[in-house]
Amino acid sequence: MPETLVKVDLAQSPFENEMIHNRWHPDIPMAAWVKCGDEFRIETYDWTGGFIKNNDSADDVRDIDLSIVHFLSGPIGVEGAEPGDLLVVDLLDVGAKPESLWGFNGFFSKQNGGGFLTDHFPLAQKSIWDISGLYTHSRHIPAVKFAGLIHPGLIGCLPDQKLLEKWNARELDFISTQPKRVPPLANPPFAPTAHMGKLKGEARDKAAATGARTVPPREHGGNCDIKDLSRGSRIYFPVYVKGAGLSMGDLHFSQGDGEITFCGAIEMAGWLHLKVDLIKGGMAKYGIKNPIFKPSPITPTYNDYLIFEGISVDESGKQYYLDVHIAYRQACLNAIEYLTKFGYSRAQAYAILGTAPVQGHISGVVDIPNACATLWLPTQIFDFDIRPVAAGPVKHVSGEIDIPMSPDK
Ligand code: ZN
Repeated sequence: MPETLVKVDLAQSPFENEMIHNRWHPDIPMAAWVKCGDEFRIETYDWTGGFIKNNDSADDVRDIDLSIVHFLSGPIGVEGAEPGDLLVVDLLDVGAKPESLWGFNGFFSKQNGGGFLTDHFPLAQKSIWDISGLYTHSRHIPAVKFAGLIHPGLIGCLPDQKLLEKWNARELDFISTQPKRVPPLANPPFAPTAHMGKLKGEARDKAAATGARTVPPREHGGNCDIKDLSRGSRIYFPVYVKGAGLSMGDLHFSQGDGEITFCGAIEMAGWLHLKVDLIKGGMAKYGIKNPIFKPSPITPTYNDYLIFEGISVDESGKQYYLDVHIAYRQACLNAIEYLTKFGYSRAQAYAILGTAPVQGHISGVVDIPNACATLWLPTQIFDFDIRPVAAGPVKHVSGEIDIPMSPDK
């Protein structure tokens, strides 16, 4: 077994582990160093550092201080990596921590984080998913089971000072256009809950004041939440600092395209088995600004779908111009409405779309004025037939079980 470079004790606070950090900043010291060709293992907390518990209350989803996320393992320094190179990362395997074979999916309260459908689901809710080898199911959502397409939601290299300043400037500018919006347009740097890894003293405080939050995906990759970035993938990351500084976390046992529930996919603590290499000067050689990747040769086989269309006309009937965000929301709402006909609550249907291997596609962006987005719901994840038939839908789910909800305080 390759050496485990970052170890995580789930009983210990991530703030006490110096190989963990929750901001992006070039001054965060490398947690460990590797050479090209090395294989190694990294352990990770779940993205909240263990704040969300395996129980039947959504109080933790309601009460979480979102300025603490994401807890990332690293950065891993790669000998010989220089700005302008491409870091080649083979994601040889990914799994759940053996002592923690469960994950969570939740909806944040609109007052604390929100989500893609927050106007329809404004209160905190949480479902727990048990992991049985390849498969998962939830005690809060009957008659659904599927195989995991396991992946890190978040992985990327440290930014250099110039890139960090660019991120902060553009996001602060954006926030200033609607400073009181709930949920906010973006999250500015926030020093009090910053965890800067091994960085200590004045240098730590200085970096914490400007460290970029980890929520958005950016040029370096980061929190892309791409479900197909699964075990067996090869990723090519832009390198901005000497040693590259690869960090990762936010492991998902499974996720639907869009991670629409935001808290989040099926979130879990786990481990990654990695191998790294370099393409010197690869950014210029291949014209690369954002990461590129090759998918895994092994994925769960779900090849039968019921596909829901959505167009860029919102719930109130208002027309939008080729707006893919509105169109995908309509496709999701259409799928939720459909699933309620079999007895699922709207919350259960929303959770299925956030966790199962659901595909989202941008189907048309030129046919003015409507964009068309599609949501592909795999039929084989259900214990029963969800196709429309002449006799109409049969209620297969009794409604006795639902997803716990916690009203705002
Ligand atoms: Zn996540």
